[in-house]
Amino acid sequence: MIRNYARVLAEIEQELDFEQRLGQPADYIPELRKVNPDHFGLHLCCLNGDAFCLGEDKTHFSIQSISKVFSLSMAMRICGDDVWKRVGVEPSGNAFNSLIQLEREDGIPRNPLINAGALVIADMLVTHFSDPRQALLDFVRQLTQDDSITFDEDVAVSEQSVGYRNFATAHMLKSFGNMENEIMEVLDFYFHQCALSMNCAQLSKAFLVFANEGKIPDSHTQVLSPLQCKRINALMMTCGFYDEAGEFSFLVGLPGKSGVGGGIVAIHPGEYSVAVWSPRLNEKGNSVLGMKSLELLTTKTAYSIF
Ligand code: GLU
Repeated sequence: MIRNYARVLAEIEQELDFEQRLGQPADYIPELRKVNPDHFGLHLCCLNGDAFCLGEDKTHFSIQSISKVFSLSMAMRICGDDVWKRVGVEPSGNAFNSLIQLEREDGIPRNPLINAGALVIADMLVTHFSDPRQALLDFVRQLTQDDSITFDEDVAVSEQSVGYRNFATAHMLKSFGNMENEIMEVLDFYFHQCALSMNCAQLSKAFLVFANEGKIPDSHTQVLSPLQCKRINALMMTCGFYDEAGEFSFLVGLPGKSGVGGGIVAIHPGEYSVAVWSPRLNEKGNSVLGMKSLELLTTKTAYSIF
């Protein structure tokens, strides 16, 4: 096992092929089309306080589905095991925005990290909080100790303007009785959570809590029980990478979550959290250089959870 992360990151930077420009950025949300596809940033925070970075680790981007881990954490804090009455814990084996399985399985989404599941989680937060958007900001700001984190309104509005599948999914959930609130209220919250704007340094810091059995390292605040933290990590491992969670597990061997903005966050329990951002995605929707750099990280350190 090699823990010289400075050296390992320098080697990763040497080996990544930035010129090949493999993959395409997500373009189904108009605002995401404006992002230069050739950005690259990486930030690794260790639980002992050390931090290492590459490239544009302080440039903000749209975290998109990575936000589903924050909203799930909040729902588990509020609803406990009742969460699992309305959403499952199995990989879907389908695209993140597929409707087919939801209809076949009577409106119970396979897991909270696909869109249907995240909409049910969003519904729980809308029920519980009078201002769910502010509650989400408060939670993420607590995790990062950074009050500057906010939503990119342009991205939220942009997604709302083309969010046909999410509208369809929300209506399907409502028809099965698995959505308590007004569809537009839930979707508005969901589009905002996806439009959280963060950089790799902030994201890796936020996810340290999942490497630390649910306790924020800086403030020593226990925001999730070790059992809840274990479950969230298990879900990230099995469901965090669209229909490519097996491949990510095979190549990288860490729990994590990706988003169509090109971000990926992964954690090594007891050791570190790492966030990487590169907007070019493979055909499954995961960042090409993001996956490659994390594969190199766990291969060069000879240190994954397996
Ligand atoms: N807001 C995006 C959607 O619902 C999230 C997609 C993602 O990052 O997986 O389509």
